[in-house]
Amino acid sequence: MLKHVFRPGDMGGLTLANRIVMGAMHLNLETREDGGAAVAAFYAERARGGAGLIVTGGCAVSPEGSGGRHYARIDDPARHRALGAWADAVHREGGRIALQLFHAGRYTSAAATGRIPVAPSAVPGPFGVPRALDEDGIADLLDAFAAGAARARELGFDAVEVMASEGYLLNQFLSPLTNLREDRWGGDARRRTRFPLAVLDAVRASAGPDFPVLFRISGADLMEGSSTAEEVQRFARLLARAGVAALNVGVGWHESRTPTVQSIVEPGAWVGHAARIRRSLRRAGLSTPVIASNRINRLELAERVLADGDADFVSMARPFLADPGIVRKSRLVNGPAPNVCIACNEACIDRSLGDEPVSCLVNPRAGRETEFPVPVRRRRAGRGRFAVVGGGPAGLEGARALASLGHRVELFEAGAELGGQFRLARLVPGKADFGATVGYFAGELRRLGVTVRLNHPVDAPDAESLRRFDGVLVATGVLPRPAGLPGEHLPHVVDYRQAFARPEALGERVVVIGGGGIAVDLAHLLTPLHSVTLLRRSGRIGDGMGRSTRWAVLAELRRHGAEWLTGVRYEAVLPGGVLLTDVDGVRRLLPADSVVIAAGQVPADGLRLPLTGLGIPFRLVGGAADARGLNAVRAVEQGLRAAYEL
Ligand code: SF4
Repeated sequence: MLKHVFRPGDMGGLTLANRIVMGAMHLNLETREDGGAAVAAFYAERARGGAGLIVTGGCAVSPEGSGGRHYARIDDPARHRALGAWADAVHREGGRIALQLFHAGRYTSAAATGRIPVAPSAVPGPFGVPRALDEDGIADLLDAFAAGAARARELGFDAVEVMASEGYLLNQFLSPLTNLREDRWGGDARRRTRFPLAVLDAVRASAGPDFPVLFRISGADLMEGSSTAEEVQRFARLLARAGVAALNVGVGWHESRTPTVQSIVEPGAWVGHAARIRRSLRRAGLSTPVIASNRINRLELAERVLADGDADFVSMARPFLADPGIVRKSRLVNGPAPNVCIACNEACIDRSLGDEPVSCLVNPRAGRETEFPVPVRRRRAGRGRFAVVGGGPAGLEGARALASLGHRVELFEAGAELGGQFRLARLVPGKADFGATVGYFAGELRRLGVTVRLNHPVDAPDAESLRRFDGVLVATGVLPRPAGLPGEHLPHVVDYRQAFARPEALGERVVVIGGGGIAVDLAHLLTPLHSVTLLRRSGRIGDGMGRSTRWAVLAELRRHGAEWLTGVRYEAVLPGGVLLTDVDGVRRLLPADSVVIAAGQVPADGLRLPLTGLGIPFRLVGGAADARGLNAVRAVEQGLRAAYEL
């Protein structure tokens, strides 16, 4: 079915088993003092999972080029053993690996690198004003890229990819927004391409003309006044003529206000940029392969991109966090369905922007492969008998992990369906894939032989029945917290779960008491049909949402007419609305036909005391353990950890 995906391909003489490239992801594991073991295990699992080519996370060519505290550095001899271990690990699995040569330019800080950031011009970046490179500095950088490529080859990498996209240094040279130079490295569009082209020449000269060099270019910067589509295409043709092995087409600068990778972005939204570049190359008689990337989360979509002739390869990054075996599984007839990246960004991009190790909400083993090894022979591994109470995200992952360790597992779910809070999330525009996560786990539990008992609550009085298990994972989730307001029990007041279940039952004007992630999700669901106002006592609307998502979702809500008030004191719910005192101290009635309480949750932890009393070993995970700032990443990770520790 995926016949285009599974056709072997060629990049500059490097033969790849299929058309799927695992795109570069910075993991914040790169500087671990483990000889490269954690990253090697991460890459090895993806090579085993069928990635045609793995591109490493950005590997800085010089100290000030590093994007953060934990970036790999190709110029640092102390890191070479670890880098070589990555390449070896991938090769042992029969995979191919390219090292990404990286320089952040103005996208880094002195705090992260201990050096003043450098850039084509002194245009302020997110962390301050960089120093404009002088001629010597540019020459040094060309040497650094050249040395990096030669070193990558020596260390066993099959190729390099030069990062010239997403607003990093080479992209900064290309753009009139950040390259204000009047010398030979700037001034007009042609001269702005000179530095990236010089990098390509230097890299090819030092690593050898037979060593494949990929370029990651920006199909569109999504910054007003930046390079035009014609300039981008011309640059692509120049690179192709100069001998790049492939052009990997990215999109959007980090400071762009156009969402590119959030769940509200339609999958495949950016393929058009790769397609236009490919057409421009072909019209010029150039056959350089083009790689489409960004927000392609399923192999079926990749297949369509390839079949339509929009690209020669497809780069997928986050989908390999969600499921390292995504390619291999898709090849098997009647094989298990792969886990799907839901574009939440919470454990990956949001963490990579800081210092935390990257992982994945729907696959918390990602980045922790050495900590949570999967036994080769599952049946022999564990012999325990475990109960999981609650079929939300934490319970699902706990049950899956326990069964993958070879234990016999029974899962008790009070409702008629698995999924917990994900059943609500999947209703929100752009979040339908949360339903795919539930489907994936349900399939895995079936495959691993977990007994699932739906409509089977296990409450405190039933605790005795859990004696027959060696341990219990309590993942009973949360209950909505009452707001404690007079009038809260009036007929036009509902809690958020009721509002999610029957949005059509709400009146025209809806006031939501609460402004956290759940309230924002609910507003997103309601705005097409209702006028919505969110109220928050303290903090910002959407606090707790991920850094890369909050701004994009709030902008979308504003576009749909949602409003919000912060710093308010709620006084009471009245038949005509919510009585409040606003931030200016004015007491007023905010009219509402329906009022939704989304003022937080309390743990549903009724099993804690009886299990303790009975001496049954148990672990509380997810919202049942801690309902503050309900956090799905934390919940799912706790499910995994508990399975290994019970
Ligand atoms: Fe995808 Fe979310 Fe996992 Fe990141 S954390 S890979 S966005 S599912």
